[in-house]
Order: sequence, then structure tokens, then C-alpha cells
Amino acid sequence: MSKQHLVAVIGAGPAGIYGTRKLTEAGHRVLLINRDIKPGGLAEYGIFLDKEKMKTGLRKQFHRILADPKVSYLGHVTVGEGKSLTLKDLQEIGFGAIVVSAGAQGTKKLGLPGEEFTGVYHAKDVVYHYNKLPPFSQRHFELGSRIAIIGMGNVMVDVANWLLNYKDIAEVTVVARRGPREKAYDDSEFEVIEKYLDNDDMRKEIERIRPDLETAGQNVDEIIDKFVGSTTPPANQRLRFRYLCSPTKVVGNSDGKVAGLEVELNKLVVENGRTAPKGTGQRTQIPLDCVIYAIGDQVDGSLGLPYARGAFVTNPAELSGDPNPAHYQPYDPASKQVLEGIYVIGWSRNASVGLVGVAKQDAERGMKVINAYLTSQEGFEPEVIERKIEAVLDKLEENKVSYVTKDDVALLEAGEKQEAKKRNTWEHKYATDEEMLEIISAPKAVAS
Ligand SMILES: Cc1cc2nc3c(=O)[nH]c(=O)nc-3n(C[C@H](O)[C@H](O)[C@H](O)COP(=O)(O)OP(=O)(O)OC[C@H]3O[C@@H](n4cnc5c(N)ncnc54)[C@H](O)[C@@H]3O)c2cc1C
Repeated sequence: MSKQHLVAVIGAGPAGIYGTRKLTEAGHRVLLINRDIKPGGLAEYGIFLDKEKMKTGLRKQFHRILADPKVSYLGHVTVGEGKSLTLKDLQEIGFGAIVVSAGAQGTKKLGLPGEEFTGVYHAKDVVYHYNKLPPFSQRHFELGSRIAIIGMGNVMVDVANWLLNYKDIAEVTVVARRGPREKAYDDSEFEVIEKYLDNDDMRKEIERIRPDLETAGQNVDEIIDKFVGSTTPPANQRLRFRYLCSPTKVVGNSDGKVAGLEVELNKLVVENGRTAPKGTGQRTQIPLDCVIYAIGDQVDGSLGLPYARGAFVTNPAELSGDPNPAHYQPYDPASKQVLEGIYVIGWSRNASVGLVGVAKQDAERGMKVINAYLTSQEGFEPEVIERKIEAVLDKLEENKVSYVTKDDVALLEAGEKQEAKKRNTWEHKYATDEEMLEIISAPKAVAS
């Protein structure tokens, strides 16, 4: 058999999996390395609980891609400093290319005083918790009954959906720096929480900021028409918005728990055709039990790539080609060199940007660049490829990592399916690594 390229793909979310398909279509071998036992990334552990059709459809596509014999899967393996494997380990073993598609696992903070109080959380952790991703699945969240979500995108809607529809939280307050028109969530997504909206409060809130909206040239009556409905929320639950408010401090009580959020009131200014918030210096407090940041995420700086301000640094050059290859190349600003043979795609390249379709498109565009690079490289003989994969397994064994393979994931999924059937639900997920590893090892124990 002729020489083949071997590519290590780090992260089996949508970007890593759809990217893998482009590599196998080009005839390459892929070693797909994933932190979680199960593949899917946020498609498995981010997309909301009841989106059965979307989740099932994506899982089917992912299965088909991973079933290709050219793909080897290693789950429960984290790449990074002090983790199961380092990027340097992979570089030393030597791959045709290494693709980082690990998503955006770093947590973005506002850096406010009081963020250390119990009851301050990040949306990603909450989302991972309700989607049963270990170890977040086991984490205790002190929610209380009055919760602020900071940010107004679709992730805010998902978290509010969980809080209101699944946890029966009494009051959810969305805190946003800008006004209603600058919302980043989709109306169709909002429908699931619309019935909780306190429309009287919404009208008052929009009237409160009327002068600011008008100064920014916005038609307030139109905004009221669009954002104020006629329904009344349930007696014990409500959703409300506080617009033109920038958080300045989390207020705590003597037990070290959240007691409120101090915000600075903003006005809206139009700069270069864009509406931007500007602090007025006037502050107020919202009494609360819990604050959840839904302001996007950043990449994980410990993965081993050059990192600055929440992102992996990519080549600043304008190279010719569509796409510009530089956008996918990690770049060391100290040596002013690209990291040859290493690439970033998906949310690792552009943190928290876009839906699955965007991550897929980014991965496919990135793979055009990577496949072009590989044509300039010599491949490996099949036995060399097997030796390299063996070297990765040896390293994992040396580091005492209980990795899982494609066959193991199939066993786990069969076990989950069986359990779902028993419980008469469309899916069942085991919420700890221990349970998942037990399901995987049970048939092996019987066979041996
Ligand atoms: C709350 C939420 C809800 C969403 N809902 C929708 C929706 O309804 N519809 C939709 O189309 N899109 C939705 N999205 C967006 C969608 O999930 C993303 O566009 C997409 O998952 C990004 O893909 P990715 O592969 O770049 O990253 P991810 O999906 O984050 O995948 C990253 C993968 O890398 C692995 N990994 C991480 N770190 C390491 C490491 N150090 N070593 C090895 N592996 C690692 C992880 O285990 C994971 O499998 C949602 C996103 C969020 C946050």
C-alpha cells in the first residue's frame, strides 16, 4: 500500500468531526483525540436538552464519519500542559499535521470585584451541568430564587429556559449593556421562555430608557410594539430585562454568598454608525442570589499554543488563497514564526462564534488549507502509521490514562440506548466518567 498522511485532530466536536471527514475524503488517516469520553462536543453537551431532532441528526452524521476505518478515536484524553498528553508529545511522535479543534474551553470573566462569592457562575459550566458532562454534571450550583444572567444571546435563552422551565426559578433578570434592539438572541429561540416575560415590567423598563433610545435615534413606540406583549407571567415566576446596565460589582453577604449585582447605568451613543453603550457614572443595585455570565467563552490557554487575550494567536500575514491560509495557522509572536504543520479550526479559531453550521464551514475551509499543505509533505508507510498510533497509546498508558476507543463508545451508546428504552425517554446519559467506563468495561469483563 502506498504512503498515507497521518493527521492528529484534537477535539471531536462538530469542527473536529466534519474536519475529519474532509481529511478521510482526501485519503488520510486520522487520529481523533477527545477530552470527553463521547464525541460531539457542544452538539452533545451544549445544544439544549429537548432538541431531540437536531441532536439525533447530528449524532447520526458523526457516527457515519467516525465509522470510516481510516479514523481512530481516543476519548477521555485531554491534550495540554500537565494533561493526558502534551502538544509536544504529539509533535515528537510526528504527524503530517496536527489540527486543534478543541473549541473554546476557557472561561471569560468580567474581572469584577466579588466574582469569588458563591453563586457566580459561567453559562458554559451550567450548560455542561444540565447536559450531563462530567465533572460539571456533579457540580452543585447555589441558584437561590433570584438569578441574573448577564448577556442577551442564544446561550442566555438556553440558560433561562433551564432555570424557568426545569428548575422553577422564581425570577430571572437579564442584564444587558445595550438596549432591546441590540439583542443577540433569535426570536424563534426566545419563544420557549416568552410566557414568563413580565410585560408590565418590560414596558416600564423601556419607558425608563426612552430618552436614551430616542437620543440614539431609535423609535421607542416600535420597540414597545415588538418587545412588550399582552400576556401575564405565571403567579410565582417571571422573566425581566434590565437594559443599559453594565455590571460593576457582585455584592456579597456575610456568608460569602451573592446578595446582589451593582450596575452602572449606560446611555447609548452612535459611533461610526454603530450603537454603543457609554457609562453615566450612576450606579444602582439589583438584589439577587446568583449571577450567571453568558458573555461567550475563550480558548484554553493551557493547550500549548501561543495565546493572547483569550484567543490562540494566528498568523497576521495576508496570504493569497481562499481561504487565507494564515487565518488557520497558529503563530508565535515572540519568534514571529508560524507553528509549521499545526492548524486551528472551529471555535478554537473563533471562540463562541456561530452555530454548528458555522463551525462545520470553518472546519471545511481549514481543511482546504491543511490538505494543500499535506500535498507538499511526504506521507508515511502503513506500518509507520501504526507505530505512531502505538506510540500515542504507550504514552497514555505510561501516564495511566484510561482512554476509550470507537468500539468502547459504541458499547456505551448501546448501554445508554437500552437504559433510555427502559425509562421510556428518547435518550439517557450517564453523568459520571466512572459510570460510563463501567458500562464500557462490563462486556469486556464477561468476555475475558
Ligand atoms: C449553550 C450552547 C447552545 C448551543 N446550541 C446550538 C444549537 O441549538 N444549534 C446549533 O447549531 N448550534 C448551537 N450551539 C453552537 C455549537 O454548539 C458550536 O457552533 C459548535 O459546537 C462548535 O464546534 P467546535 O467543534 O469548534 O467546538 P466544541 O463543540 O466545543 O467541541 C470541542 C471538542 O474538543 C474537545 N476538547 C476540548 N479541549 C480539549 C483538549 N484539551 N484536548 C482534547 N480534546 C479537547 C471537547 O471534548 C469537545 O469534544 C450552541 C452552543 C452553546 C454554547
